[in-house]
Amino acid sequence: MKKIVILGGGGFIGGHLAKRLKEEGNHVRICDIKNHEYFSHEEICNEFILGDLTDPRVVELVIEEGVDELYQLAADMGGALYIFTGENDANVMHNSAMINLNVAKECVTKNVKKVFYSSSACMYPEHNQLDPNNPNCEESSAYPANPDSEYGWEKLFSERVFLAFKRNYKLDVRVARFHNIFGPQGTWKGGKEKSPAAMCRKVAEAKAGDAIEVWGNGLQTRSFLYVDECVEAVLRLMHSDFTGPVNIGSEEMVSINQLAQMAIDISGKDLSIDNIDGQDFIDKYGFKCPLGVKGRNSDNKLYREQVGWEVNQPLLVGMKKTFEWITEQSKKYS
Ligand code: NAD
Repeated sequence: MKKIVILGGGGFIGGHLAKRLKEEGNHVRICDIKNHEYFSHEEICNEFILGDLTDPRVVELVIEEGVDELYQLAADMGGALYIFTGENDANVMHNSAMINLNVAKECVTKNVKKVFYSSSACMYPEHNQLDPNNPNCEESSAYPANPDSEYGWEKLFSERVFLAFKRNYKLDVRVARFHNIFGPQGTWKGGKEKSPAAMCRKVAEAKAGDAIEVWGNGLQTRSFLYVDECVEAVLRLMHSDFTGPVNIGSEEMVSINQLAQMAIDISGKDLSIDNIDGQDFIDKYGFKCPLGVKGRNSDNKLYREQVGWEVNQPLLVGMKKTFEWITEQSKKYS
């Protein structure tokens, strides 16, 4: 039995990771500023500490001596509406950077044996992601840096914080860059949800003959990784000797309209797609369409080489499970 701390375990990926590690018989302590919305404490941990990790006193209390593995997933984040409108930039940068600075230092002070840090594909340079059909997200393309959001800049900064603590204080760290993780028990409404959840919700709530609103021209591309595969990839990286940074994502790139059509096909409903962009979007919402880069796909070569495993579940399989779960959630709220 290992002593494990999961920061941000009240969130989507942290909750799934905590559940898996608890089921494997480990002692799991979570700290999050909020409870998990869909998992009970019993399902995911032995101890749940409600606390704000931007406060160093909370971090001192949460991280004790004798921790075998610490997973740092806490961040002030959300989907495009949260990250790309610019309205949350100061909080996103300040809160997440404070958490990471506090955590890296405390892990050294308390001799945590191994630390995982969750970075994001949002740290890749915008200029390599202008062609929707040919984005470059190879790990080595990170510099010269030019992320398209403050969220991405903070992730890049914090990667460097953890790597500096490794160099100077021998902190045994693993860094992964997640690419659009999705699945059940994640945010599906309210403005912080990501595109797979938003598509599933819109389709689940639509009536035959309706048009599903899709932001942008729908040709922008992304890849999406189902949360169970993400957890598996994190654990395999943690148990490998490779520090990273390394991508954790799917290489199955689709356009956003293809993603919307997939949700429609799963539902079996007669629905169409309505792309809203440019001035029409501004007239309707009062701000510019928050799209992010034009194309992004995970490049898994380095992970395959260094960790010796690869994700392989088709997007459709995860989308079916997610659609089913969001349909049930949506019924509860209607
Ligand atoms: P999430 O928002 O569901 O989880 C983050 C958790 O951090 C939340 O539960 C939140 O309450 C907690 N948190 C925020 N501020 C806190 C504070 N001050 N003190 C304590 N807890 C705090 O997001 P997620 O999708 O589970 O993402 C987990 C990590 O992976 C994040 O660091 C995120 O940036 C990164 N990531 C996620 C994705 C994705 O597609 N989901 C992609 C790239 C990177």
